[in-house]
Amino acid sequence: MALERPPENEASPSRRSLIGLTRDELAAELIGFGERPQAARMRARQLWHWIYHHGAKTFEPMSSIARPMRDALAAAYSLDRPVIAREQRSIDGTRKWLLRFDDGQEAETVYIPEEDRGAVCISSQVGCALTCKFCHTGTQRLVRNLGAREIVSQFLVARDSYGEWPSPSGERLLSNIVMMGMGEPLFNFDNVAKALTIIMDSEGISISRRRITLSTAGVVPLMERCGEELNVNLAVSLHAVTDELRDEIVPINRKYPIAQLIEACRRYPGASNARRITFEYVMLKGVNDSPADAKALVKLIAGIPAKINLIPFNPWPGAPYECSTDEAIARFAGIVNRAGYSSPVRTPRGRDILAACGQLKSASQRAPRRNSVGERAADAPAGT
Ligand code: SAH
Repeated sequence: MALERPPENEASPSRRSLIGLTRDELAAELIGFGERPQAARMRARQLWHWIYHHGAKTFEPMSSIARPMRDALAAAYSLDRPVIAREQRSIDGTRKWLLRFDDGQEAETVYIPEEDRGAVCISSQVGCALTCKFCHTGTQRLVRNLGAREIVSQFLVARDSYGEWPSPSGERLLSNIVMMGMGEPLFNFDNVAKALTIIMDSEGISISRRRITLSTAGVVPLMERCGEELNVNLAVSLHAVTDELRDEIVPINRKYPIAQLIEACRRYPGASNARRITFEYVMLKGVNDSPADAKALVKLIAGIPAKINLIPFNPWPGAPYECSTDEAIARFAGIVNRAGYSSPVRTPRGRDILAACGQLKSASQRAPRRNSVGERAADAPAGT
């Protein structure tokens, strides 16, 4: 066991983080640290409660753990959050954090408050490999996957900001999670799954799978696993009803075309009328917003328990599109609605701080590599 305790909060790269470990990993870590195997599970449970229920940032307040043990833990481990490189607040109450991780790479997290609840929009990767034409993040190349710790930490930072600890059992400001930040969550499935499992644990942050939505551009081979292992709500970034257009604006369509994507939605475990799949559809003026598009959309998804989320295009510097007119959006929504699908138009939030859908971006870049073969290999997202 460690002998000396550095002052709390002192940046010490030698202290390992305990955030982002599963319960089993935490218990194993404690055994490696010197805890008796018979006691490790109980100790892990205590720590879990302090870290994820109380939001402890240090070992100091862990009053259920004896002082010498607390000191020893503090000498060896950290519960530090990533550095908040910048925080911005929108006039509509939306908050956005640019977080800097241990290696200096950065990603953004957003909190969107609503009247009686609020959603934390979490990033899964630094940059993105998808290059969707209308998305700001898509202009930044994929740098790397985020680890489970970095994904969970985004939620911790957002909750720290509101001081909403311990995890409330009733009404919450931070009640929902949307995996809709930077990156494609299904290209980083293992880390996303681990992070969400930690977040859903009922003795910690305890956000139910019903309040978590994972959005994918259509990584077809992983959709079933997502439903089976996580059973969270699914959102699909559809945005076009023909392969010709979708190939152009959502290029992953060239690999997994619309028919395959829709088939995977039909098979999504847990989809029912009570738990509908959300189809996201960005409204691009003169591109995908005609009444014919709306009618084709309704045909395409026939029989799937679904709702259509119409997203007015959020502009960003240099974007090659404009947002559809209000009339075009209303006409489109009307057609979808009359066909029996709920078709809410997503109110843009946090546009003034570039925090709305598709506006996130960080300055992080991939370290240059010497040979172009390595460069291409690094481009291939995990999971494909
Ligand atoms: N890669 C995942 C997660 C990102 S979610 C996915 O594609 O689903 C972000 C959502 O915002 C997606 O539906 C995306 O298509 C949408 N979006 C991207 N750029 C946008 C923009 N400029 N205006 C409105 N919505 C946008």
